[in-house]
Amino acid sequence: MSPPLNHIHTSSELPASADVVVIGGGIIGVFTAYYLARRGVSVALVEKGRIGAEQSSRNWGWCRQQNRDARELPLASKSLDLWERFAAESGEDTGFHRCGLLYLSNDEAEISRWASWREFAKSAGVTTHMLSGREAAERGQATGRAWKGGVFSPSDGTADPGKAAPAVAAALIKLGGSVHQNCAARGIETEGGRVSGVITEAGVIKTRTAVMAGGAWASSFCRQLGIRFPQASVRQSILSVSAVEQRLPDAVVSAGVSVTRRSDGRYALAISGRARVDLTGQFMRFAPQFVPMFAKRWRNLRPGGLEGIRGGHETLSRWRLDAPTPMERVRILDPKPDMTAIRDTQRRAIELLPQLRDARITHAWAGYIDSTPDGVPGIGEVPGVPGFILAAGFSGHGFGIGPGAGHLIADIASGAEPIVDPAPYRPERFSGTAWGKVADF
Ligand SMILES: Cc1cc2nc3c(=O)[nH]c(=O)nc-3n(C[C@H](O)[C@H](O)[C@H](O)COP(=O)(O)OP(=O)(O)OC[C@H]3O[C@@H](n4cnc5c(N)ncnc54)[C@H](O)[C@@H]3O)c2cc1C
Repeated sequence: MSPPLNHIHTSSELPASADVVVIGGGIIGVFTAYYLARRGVSVALVEKGRIGAEQSSRNWGWCRQQNRDARELPLASKSLDLWERFAAESGEDTGFHRCGLLYLSNDEAEISRWASWREFAKSAGVTTHMLSGREAAERGQATGRAWKGGVFSPSDGTADPGKAAPAVAAALIKLGGSVHQNCAARGIETEGGRVSGVITEAGVIKTRTAVMAGGAWASSFCRQLGIRFPQASVRQSILSVSAVEQRLPDAVVSAGVSVTRRSDGRYALAISGRARVDLTGQFMRFAPQFVPMFAKRWRNLRPGGLEGIRGGHETLSRWRLDAPTPMERVRILDPKPDMTAIRDTQRRAIELLPQLRDARITHAWAGYIDSTPDGVPGIGEVPGVPGFILAAGFSGHGFGIGPGAGHLIADIASGAEPIVDPAPYRPERFSGTAWGKVADF
């Protein structure tokens, strides 16, 4: 089942050419195209299914600096401002608000990790409050429980995944950007080694710059061009329940479960990090590079099944450019939720917030989280294919940093001063063994 998602109407007529073609209409693709259109660059965005229908509508909605890896923190901080600015400049509603994020714990080791992160965050100018046991119990009053401690990050917030990407695409269209749903990009044309066009199922769009923002499909697309992009995806399950009478915290997480209020009053429930690993050819191919990542997260990972093969997003095969591709066969990657995890999540949520006992499940779904070996996205022009910009591998953090990442990608595509230092995201780092530092959270 897919989660709720706003629809937008787009055109079926492709432009003959555009300065930049963005492939993929998730949060990364739409923000990239939006920031290009704002600076007068002609931009076309092609989406094989519906705007926002994959990861970008399936997530918790957290937009956080809290516990971010040092490499992503600058992008996370810029993004929070950009979420707010987007609403003011476009008049569109993404559901973003700085409600603050509440972390509660009874695990002293975890609390001391948060405390050390806070020291680092202070040096980066980020405000976050460590909570004593008494303060945690006060802030988490709705839980009716005692806590050893917690953290509250007042400047973080949430946006509504069912609204955000369509809202940005709507703003893009108002700015003159052309957006096309049900239109898969099959490949890239080159002239003298440089990008000269994007081949879609509906024809070619001439361009000198293509941005690959295809989420979990990015590696298989890159493979068609001879580009090796190590990417693996895990399937995480999540549910939403109906509104309840008492007002609960907008966004709270404990070791057991996270609870996030949506703008229509429903609550989204999930277990942090818990996911299924579905075996695919691509997974096997890149597995050696992901050993450090999986070693760090193994407690929460369970073996999956054949869902990944059915999805087709991690195919190792080469496809033809003049015939339907796996992207046209699977317009929306909508994997089956793990019902054991769904039941477990609901049970834990009721334990945390007993007020949820009478709430009914409205939706249960799953999404593939696309990761890189070090848990940091790949953003930048790919060496050897001038004009081809990779923007994928957001490793479970891409929604919150969507505006900052989109701004950065637009900066790279248009040759503007980058909003943050792009060095940590360079795709070149994947040509090594990538047994470097794996992002902590
Ligand atoms: C359960 C879950 C919880 C999460 N929680 C959070 C959270 O709280 N906070 C956070 O920051 N992040 C979270 N994430 C991660 C976040 O959702 C992703 O990092 C982010 O949405 C990635 O955006 P994207 O645009 O790269 O990918 P996607 O949203 O997956 O979009 C990629 C799009 O590209 C399209 N596409 C692919 N190939 C082609 C092609 N060849 N031609 C045309 N279109 C193509 C696809 O159809 C898709 O719509 C979570 C993810 C999941 C699954």
